[in-house]
Amino acid sequence: MSAKIIDGRQIAAKIRATLKEKISVLPLKPHLAIILVGNDDASVIYVRNKQKFAQEIGMRTTLYHLPETTDSAAVLQLIEKLNNDKDVNGIIVQLPLPDHFNVHEVIHQISPLKDVDGFHPYNTGMLQNNEDPYFIAATPLGIMKLIQNVETELSGKNVVIIGASLIVGRPLATLLLNHECTVTVTHIHTRNIKELTRKADIVVAACGVANMVKNDWIKKGATLIDVGINRLEGKICGDIDFADVCGTAGAITPVPGGVGPMTIAMLLQNTVDAYFLQNK
Ligand code: NAD
Repeated sequence: MSAKIIDGRQIAAKIRATLKEKISVLPLKPHLAIILVGNDDASVIYVRNKQKFAQEIGMRTTLYHLPETTDSAAVLQLIEKLNNDKDVNGIIVQLPLPDHFNVHEVIHQISPLKDVDGFHPYNTGMLQNNEDPYFIAATPLGIMKLIQNVETELSGKNVVIIGASLIVGRPLATLLLNHECTVTVTHIHTRNIKELTRKADIVVAACGVANMVKNDWIKKGATLIDVGINRLEGKICGDIDFADVCGTAGAITPVPGGVGPMTIAMLLQNTVDAYFLQNK
């Protein structure tokens, strides 16, 4: 039997259609400010996609595309201006920033009420406390929706996350813990990850290592979420060897067409939420 494909494209399209409807009746359209420093190839493509999908649902975006050499003070100043601009609902800074930036300092500068990427310590801290943050990071939020598409009951599920980054692994671990899962977070220094993933009901791979997770890494019927975006021999592939695991997994997200579209849909949802939060 072949695994069920969790179609992120389709789920994301439904979410965007709902947002479009919500926006269509608003007197003023939600407005997302995007700060991009430099010309990192992947970042330029991600930003273009965010703008394209925002435009499709009737959301306004403004891109501040700054030269690589821009200093930190200028970015902090721009964020402060956007924080105080009532016409701006959400602010994101496309990561990674060039090396001369302190990324934490930049993120801390964004008002938690406009932090639609959900990276500000107010929002991550509230999530950690299992209280209601204003915003939850888009990728983990999207992953939760994909998992919930196939797992009706999360309580007590054994989940292994491969990757412990601030934008994926850590917030996702907190979200799953808040849903009563037993969560193991692994990273580059974890020994014998395979022994852990083999016992997991759900495996989330977010390490950026092409096709790392093989068939003998997983339990029969497991739900697999592939976050990785890797380029291998000119093609995009994930961190899970899709063809190898398909006969054993219960459900799996494809790459592309799984987590990627959900990340953008959740960012748009956060921006619409920001509009309502600021226009109560
Ligand atoms: P990161 O580099 O910040 O973190 C990678 C994590 O994986 C680290 O915790 C590291 O210790 C761990 N890791 C690296 N090699 C490993 C190995 N061999 N074994 C076990 N753990 C290992 O990366 P990130 O920003 O979290 O991104 C991870 C991947 O997810 C990348 O491929 C990225 O492109 C992708 N990504 C996709 C989306 C999306 O929307 N689809 C969003 C964010 C990231």
